[in-house]
Amino acid sequence: MRVLVYGAGQLAQMMYLEGAPLGIEVQAVNVKDDSVVHPVSKRPLEQSLVQAIESADALTVEFEHVPERLLEQAAKSDKLMPSMDAIMVGADRVREKHLLEKFEVANCPYQIVTQIDQLDACIEALGDKLIIKASRDGYDGYGQWRLKSVDELQAIKQELAGLDLETVPLVVEKMLNFERELSLIGVRSKKGEIKIYPLAENLHHKGQLHVSVAPATQLSEPLVEQAETIFRTLADGMNYVGVLAVEMFQCQDKLLVNELAPRVHNSGHWSLSGAHTSQFENHLRALVGLPLGDTAAILPSAMVNVIGCSAFSRDLLSIPGCDLHWYGKSVREKRKMGHINLTATSYHELGDKLHKLMSYVPTEYFPELEKEAYRLRSYK
Ligand code: ATP
Ligand code: MG
Repeated sequence: MRVLVYGAGQLAQMMYLEGAPLGIEVQAVNVKDDSVVHPVSKRPLEQSLVQAIESADALTVEFEHVPERLLEQAAKSDKLMPSMDAIMVGADRVREKHLLEKFEVANCPYQIVTQIDQLDACIEALGDKLIIKASRDGYDGYGQWRLKSVDELQAIKQELAGLDLETVPLVVEKMLNFERELSLIGVRSKKGEIKIYPLAENLHHKGQLHVSVAPATQLSEPLVEQAETIFRTLADGMNYVGVLAVEMFQCQDKLLVNELAPRVHNSGHWSLSGAHTSQFENHLRALVGLPLGDTAAILPSAMVNVIGCSAFSRDLLSIPGCDLHWYGKSVREKRKMGHINLTATSYHELGDKLHKLMSYVPTEYFPELEKEAYRLRSYK
C-alpha cells in the first residue's frame, strides 16, 4: 500500500517510519517544485507527481498551506484525505471561524478586519488587549501581532499598513487570560469510527509549542467530555478521515477552540512513546482502511521540542524512557530541529526526568523546562 504526503518535512518522515512495519510505503511531495521525494533522505524519486498520484492508495498533507492548485489536482483523484475543504479550513482562519460557528463550537471572541481602520471598532468590541492574526500562512506565532494597550494602536496600524487585507483579512481576537492550553488529537476512519487520544497540555513560548504533557494533569470528567464532544462534532460534521488536532484554551471549566490542524500535530508526538498506536500510524490506518489502533496512554509522557539548536549532549539518551527524534534539518532560529520524548511511571518521576534533561541541553533554548519539571515534581 502506498500513501503520498504533500509536504516533505518531519511529519512526512514520521509517517514514513511508522508506516514501514505495516507495509505502507510513504512518499512525499516537495510542494516548492512538485517533485516526489523520499520522506527521510529527501532524495527525488524517479516518478512524476501525476504518476505518484496514480499509484498511491491515498493522498494526504503534512501541513495545511499546500498551494491550492496542488490540492485541486489531488482532490480530483478522489483519494485525498482529509478532504480539500477540511484542509482549507486549517489554512484559513476566516473559514475556520465560520466552521466553528456553523457547528456552534465555542471559540475565542473575534472580529474580521479587511480595512486597517476597523481596528478601532475591534478595541471597542473586544477591549484593548488583542491578538491580531493574519488569516492565512501563519504558524508557530508567525503572522501575529499583539496589542497590549491602546497606546500601541498607531504603531501597529503602521506596521500592518502594507498588508493587502482585502485578499488576506486579519482575524483579531481578544487576548484571553486562560488557565492553560490543551489539545485533543483524534482519528476518524472512513466508516466514521472515532478514537481519541488523552488531552495533552501544551506549553508555548513566544507563540511556539515547546513542551507537551500527556495525559494532561488535573483532567476532570466533564472537561474530557467537553473536549471529546467538540472533536466528534467537528470530525463527524466534516465527514473527516484521518487525524485531526484541535487546539483549545481552558478558561475555568470551559474549553474554547483556538485552532484546528487537519493533520498529525506536534502536540501528538508524545504518542510515539506513550501510546500503543502513534498518531502517525493511526493516520495511515485511517487512510488505507485498516482498523484504528489503541489511543490510550500507556504512561505519562512529555514531549520536548528542540528548537533552533542542534548542539546538545546525545547522552540524554541515558535517561530511562527517553527517545530522540531528529528531523535532519539545518539549524535556523525558531526552527523545530527534533523532539525528545520522555515517559515515566508517574508525573513526579516525569518531572524528575525533565529536570535531568536540563543537564544535557543548553537551557536557554528550553525556556519552559525548569518550570514544568518543578510543577510535575509537585505531584506525589
Ligand atoms: P501553530 O504553531 O499552533 O500553528 P499559530 O502561529 O498558527 O500556531 P495560534 O495557535 O493561533 O497560532 O497562536 C499561537 C499561540 O499564541 C497560542 O498557542 C497561544 O499561546 C497564543 N494565543 C493565540 N491566540 C490567543 C488568544 N486569543 N489569547 C491569548 N493567547 C493566544
Ligand atoms: Mg496553534
